[in-house]
Amino acid sequence: MDHETRMPHKMRTLVAQGPGAAEPVTKALSSPIHMSTTYLRDADNGYSGGRIYGGTDNPSVQQAEALVATLEGAEDALMFGSGMAAASAVFQALEKPTHILASRAMYYGLQSWLAELGPRSGHSVSFVDTSDLDAVRTALRTGKTGLVWIETPSNPMWTLTDIAGVAEIAHAAGALLCVDSTVSTPIFTRPLELGADIVVHSATKYLNGHSDVVAGALATAGRTAIWESIRRVRARIGASLGPFDAWLLMRGMRTLHVRVAAQARTAAILADRLIGHPALSGVLYPGLRSHPGHDVARRQMIGGFGGMLSICVKGGEPAAVAVAAQVQLWKRATSLGGIESLIEHRASIEGAGTPCPPNLLRLSVGLEDIDDLFLDLIQALGPSVPLLG
Ligand code: PLP
Repeated sequence: MDHETRMPHKMRTLVAQGPGAAEPVTKALSSPIHMSTTYLRDADNGYSGGRIYGGTDNPSVQQAEALVATLEGAEDALMFGSGMAAASAVFQALEKPTHILASRAMYYGLQSWLAELGPRSGHSVSFVDTSDLDAVRTALRTGKTGLVWIETPSNPMWTLTDIAGVAEIAHAAGALLCVDSTVSTPIFTRPLELGADIVVHSATKYLNGHSDVVAGALATAGRTAIWESIRRVRARIGASLGPFDAWLLMRGMRTLHVRVAAQARTAAILADRLIGHPALSGVLYPGLRSHPGHDVARRQMIGGFGGMLSICVKGGEPAAVAVAAQVQLWKRATSLGGIESLIEHRASIEGAGTPCPPNLLRLSVGLEDIDDLFLDLIQALGPSVPLLG
């Protein structure tokens, strides 16, 4: 069943209207930015306004949280100062040292942090190919694994993990399932409906969409003990989002639906047109039938396969770097999900020890004209390039 069928309004309507109601005092349709860091205490020593301190109670941040919760079909959501702050709050909230199972293919920054965290925190961490449900089953230690962490589709090969399949296996072993859904966005995948317990976003990417805010979000299926513990971690380490960033994020999220739909359409056409190009040894995009995760993507990405693809250039790393050097329109920059298209030689940014193929270029498709984007890539892939390296 289409995930929108159960909702009172279509996702696009909810997103476009943002907070939904006008600000009650001035009737302003665009919400004010609440900058206050503190709130007045009553003479009787109470807080009848229900707010105490900006770090935990900011109304602009709470508006963004409410919209993320709506988008994900979540019971509650929390905003953080970055995607890394959101993700690391989950690990820091685990009550006692536990075994964590994580995708082998995932955002490199988080993976290396996790690999360091394990030994220091008393947690043990195993990385496994979560696209293989048997491998997940084998690596799970019943009663010992407290958390399974997956990213799908995952950086930078867009590896798909079957969320419903892993949820069933994780829950049977008594573990929580956390899904980094940054790349798919709630427009295409709603992990909580597929059995996940918590969803993570680097809101820096598609949720904001304009490359001008660093933010993170968590959304939960229920207000469980771990969720309340995450809330406490955020307050204690001061990892909240600022009100101006929250306001920008709200503005960005209101166009989420149209942005990601257009980006996914363009990415799909580009992937189709690039496949078989003589300068390329591969095109990685979940929407391609040739992609190893295509069947899972068809099941759990509803309405589009996302705006991210990667190309593997014949001739190894020098050839890939040369292609990135020759684009005129695509911007050579890290990150993803913005309105401008980005190209990145991923192994260079991940550094030594990266599992990323050295000839891989990661493409984040923006909102430019498809023919302009395609022709720019074609001229960059030009006849001299395959001869390099
Ligand atoms: N998750 C994914 C999939 C990412 O791509 C990133 C950053 O690139 C993060 C998490 C971390 O997010 P942030 O840069 O907002 O800390």
